[in-house]
Amino acid sequence: LLVLFCAGFGAIAWWVRRWLQSRYSLLGVMDDAIENGEFVNYYQPIVELATGRITGAEALVRWVKPDGSLIRPDLFIPLAEESGKIRGITLQVLENLERDLGAVLRARPDLYVSINVTEPDLTDDVFFDALAATCSPGRLPAGQVRIELTERCLIDSAQGVARVIRLREAGHAIYIDDFGTGYSSLSYLQKFPLDVLKIDKAFVDAMDTESVTGSVVPHIVGMASALGLHTLAEGIEQEGQRARLSAMGVQYGQGWLFDKPLPAERFIERVSDE
Ligand code: C2E
Ligand code: CA
Ligand code: CA
Ligand code: CA
Repeated sequence: LLVLFCAGFGAIAWWVRRWLQSRYSLLGVMDDAIENGEFVNYYQPIVELATGRITGAEALVRWVKPDGSLIRPDLFIPLAEESGKIRGITLQVLENLERDLGAVLRARPDLYVSINVTEPDLTDDVFFDALAATCSPGRLPAGQVRIELTERCLIDSAQGVARVIRLREAGHAIYIDDFGTGYSSLSYLQKFPLDVLKIDKAFVDAMDTESVTGSVVPHIVGMASALGLHTLAEGIEQEGQRARLSAMGVQYGQGWLFDKPLPAERFIERVSDE
């Protein structure tokens, strides 16, 4: 028994050490990565569900290591957020957006791109100044740059409401990301001036099941329309899902059915084909 116990303990200790090592090795090189500009934007098209027309994209960051390998954002964004390093990444995403799509957005006032903004960014004056400078005449049209915020980010941030009002006044529409997965409550939806609820993929997947979650989408759509908000469904992979979401009144969507996140050049090709 003692042998088994020791073996089990050893395995756990080994696993914890591995986890800590990978965590700290990523954190350790993140500063250099920010410095060296190793973060690039991919763009996942957002479409009008009824017609399939591309209305824009969501910018999704990827970390390209010097050896060419890609690190997925869900592996480093949470670490970056906790450690305060997210600010440097968000600023780089904004810079990339201007370089990648500035010309396209100026030529195509019908296209919109959203960027993901976290709680530390929302209280960061450096970010607000950079956003205002980047979204100025001849650079990026502010009305075409939209901001994705999660429910958690709004609720955790003491200055949340004031900051969201500032973003709206500067011309940025606000998307609530992963809607329904956090602390959704009607009171905060009414408190913030918002534009679009992004229905999380989990609810889109659950539509095919008999579970309680399976019937959530129509409720979100009803609530959104009562509040004067649009809806966008994430993670649409099948035509059947598109048709049902569209019939339920969801206006916009994104997902592999339409496109995966694309490198900037491919996204530009996609929108010039239309
Ligand atoms: P998110 O904001 O909810 O982004 C949607 C994620 O769903 C993306 O993963 C996208 O590639 C994926 N996705 C889209 N359509 C489908 C589909 O049909 N099927 C499946 N299975 N997945 C789909 P990605 O790019 O790996 O990003 C993961 C998360 O990392 C994002 O979730 C977001 O929370 C965070 N993230 C990504 N880019 C940024 C960024 O620039 N800044 C910040 N702060 N967070 C970011
Ligand atoms: Ca997002
Ligand atoms: Ca999302
Ligand atoms: Ca999500």
